[in-house]
Amino acid sequence: MISRKAQDIPPFIVMDVLEKAQELERMGEGVIHLEVGEPDFDTPECISEACFRAIREGKTHYTHSLGLFELREAVAEDYWKRYRVKISPDQILVASGTSPALLILFSALLERGDEVILSNPYYACYPNIIRFVDGVPVFVDVMEEEGFQYLPEMIGEKRGPRVKGIMINSPSNPTGNVMDGERMARIAEFSPYIISDEIYHGLVYEGKAHSILEYTDRAFVINGFSKLYAMTGWRLGYVIAPIEFIRPMQKIQQNLFISASSFAQWGALAGLKDAAEDVRRMTDIYDQRRRFLIPKLKGLGFGITVEPTGAFYILANAKRFSRDSYGLAFDILKEARVGVAPGIDFGSNAEGYLRFSYANSLENIEEGMNRLERYLERYR
Ligand code: PMP
Repeated sequence: MISRKAQDIPPFIVMDVLEKAQELERMGEGVIHLEVGEPDFDTPECISEACFRAIREGKTHYTHSLGLFELREAVAEDYWKRYRVKISPDQILVASGTSPALLILFSALLERGDEVILSNPYYACYPNIIRFVDGVPVFVDVMEEEGFQYLPEMIGEKRGPRVKGIMINSPSNPTGNVMDGERMARIAEFSPYIISDEIYHGLVYEGKAHSILEYTDRAFVINGFSKLYAMTGWRLGYVIAPIEFIRPMQKIQQNLFISASSFAQWGALAGLKDAAEDVRRMTDIYDQRRRFLIPKLKGLGFGITVEPTGAFYILANAKRFSRDSYGLAFDILKEARVGVAPGIDFGSNAEGYLRFSYANSLENIEEGMNRLERYLERYR
């Protein structure tokens, strides 16, 4: 009686690790969480205050289905300030998270059998969402030595008549790497559309992230408030799209979601306008943790060929310990009480790797590394 689609969609394995860890915690065990990709910070106060104010002022109704005009205007301004790209508020649809934004975008773009090129490793949910709307993910294996970046010529090899989009994600989950402008410019030459997930923009510790819109208008940008503004629980994201896609996406939004949460949008508006200092404080702390964790993992014997400079992830080569990342992650959890994400969750090409998230306090990360060091003694 259960639909084929519901049966076929795979779980998000990181969530399985987290739930297993929580089970151990219920039994009184202390677990160090380096598996989840969620800021450990609370949402900055100016954002929460703006939300409380909105509720008190009765801003508790549906908003425009594309999102509050003021918020869309602020997003357009933000893209102008950061990247000097001109977009109109009419090109933006605000959704209840970037995950629904991806669903709406792929629903508006893909016919049954249309293809989207993804790098492998990839963010675990991309192929699942693409398949859910009857599209076909086509994978390009990217290599550790290249910082897990596309070689543009490899995209060329995969390009056939059914390819509707090429997905990029910089800074990247799971690798933490940032794509340089030159490579992005070359990818922007491909047609028809580039889909750029920019949710980790702002979380860059060396150099600069580029928006795809600096290089082409034939692009969709996915972005949201979960990571940079520590707003995962608020469920708020957006798509910037070529104008002809807005009305189709709006109709999907109206039917499936009506609008995103009103007071969450008022909070996010305050984030774009007033949270720069909070963001700086959080990014400085992420960077300290990154600088601690990279040499520590290398010292323990993990391979990190190109040091990640963005997001809050490190995809570390663990092949000298095991080629079964799923088994290794669950064993580390069971034996060392440290949660890590198995590479296999992010594609066949990340098998043999573990993803470490540094969205946890330095103190916890240090304790996690001490536990891991003791665990790894069995391999010496
Ligand atoms: N894209 C990427 C690359 C992510 O890492 C995440 C969160 N794990 C999302 C999209 C979804 O974010 P949200 O739905 O919370 O906006």
